[in-house]
Amino acid sequence: MAKLTIKDLDLQDKRVLVRVDFNVPLEDGRVTDNTRIRAALPTIEYLLDHGARVILMSHLGRPKGKVKEELRLNPVARELEGLLRRPVHKVNDCIGPEVEAAAAALQPGEVLLLENLRFHPEEEKNDPGFARQLAGLADIYVNDAFGAAHRAHASTEGVAYYLPAAAGFLLQKEIETLGRALADPERPFVAIIGGAKVSDKISVIRNLLGKVDTLIIGGGMANTFLKAQGHVMGKSLVEEDQVPLAQELIELAAQKGVKLLLPRDLVVAREFKADAPHQVVAVNAVPNDWMALDIGPETARAYAGALSGARTVVWNGPMGVFEMEAFAHGTEVVARAVAAVDGMTIVGGGDSVAAVEKMGVAGKIKHISTGGGASLEFLEGKALPGVVALAEK
Ligand code: ADP
Ligand code: MG
Repeated sequence: MAKLTIKDLDLQDKRVLVRVDFNVPLEDGRVTDNTRIRAALPTIEYLLDHGARVILMSHLGRPKGKVKEELRLNPVARELEGLLRRPVHKVNDCIGPEVEAAAAALQPGEVLLLENLRFHPEEEKNDPGFARQLAGLADIYVNDAFGAAHRAHASTEGVAYYLPAAAGFLLQKEIETLGRALADPERPFVAIIGGAKVSDKISVIRNLLGKVDTLIIGGGMANTFLKAQGHVMGKSLVEEDQVPLAQELIELAAQKGVKLLLPRDLVVAREFKADAPHQVVAVNAVPNDWMALDIGPETARAYAGALSGARTVVWNGPMGVFEMEAFAHGTEVVARAVAAVDGMTIVGGGDSVAAVEKMGVAGKIKHISTGGGASLEFLEGKALPGVVALAEK
């Protein structure tokens, strides 16, 4: 990797300020899913093992620049203590005299967790004075918050101007894995793009059309493509204003010699409801007052077939309304097909990750991205501010 990483640094006795993504779900003052905390452990443990004094900072939720008692990081500190099996000091702010004193008192091998960064509006404004105050707590800055790397905030970007700035292991793994898939993929390279709306993922589709051998489209966004092909979509979710663009992307795929796969059959329902009456129809036979909520079984089989020989797979966006049993089949078939692929498989996107977990195949996916928005922007070919700001090797 071209960027400085923690392995390039002398860490002994150094105060290391680490931006982590501890934006975890809380319920009754407890962390209900510690996946993101566990994802940061390799970096934290490496720093501690190499004699660093570790100062951790994160945002949690959307306090919008104000102190919100229910969004304090105290439950996170307790969860982290359990996982690290060592004490975690916690302060009630992320800047100011109390925090400076705690950072100064920190010994090698000790951990300090700062309070929710977003209690200060300066964080999201990327205020240089605020960034400088954060930087003042440490000798080295490490970014391990891939999930926040697409944001240019004080803790993800601004602070890098004031300290030697290196990537942590999680951030490094994300950008290396996604970067290699896009720049130098083993072929055939198949991308699967789904989810609710085309408008969310136009730039991803456009960027991937220049790289993949096959592009599979499913989910609600497929409706807009089908409409562009002249099909009547009934009450299905269709973005009328995106129809010309879908048409353009279909033509672009043909120009580039990319195999573009669209649904041949659909599961249509009378209503957007778990127990709504539903049936399988061909794409040219969607009844007027019905809506497409999943790809049909024939389509799912075809998509699984297209995945069977793949050496690189990138998946973002479910094939249907997988949250409802009746419309989860397409996503399940595709999830199993991705899990069975021998080569590199990458799943990104909040709902897509939830889907592979629900289908019980998460353990068979080679790389599950920890950043929904960040992975999407990476797939769009955009530079992530939190990565750009890190020092070159
Ligand atoms: P991700 O979070 O993985 O990026 P998105 O947020 O783009 O995925 O899309 C996921 C959502 O799309 C899910 O909530 C799912 O129910 C919805 N969805 C999928 N197919 C359809 C469809 N045919 N009609 C309406 N919504 C759909
Ligand atoms: Mg989503």
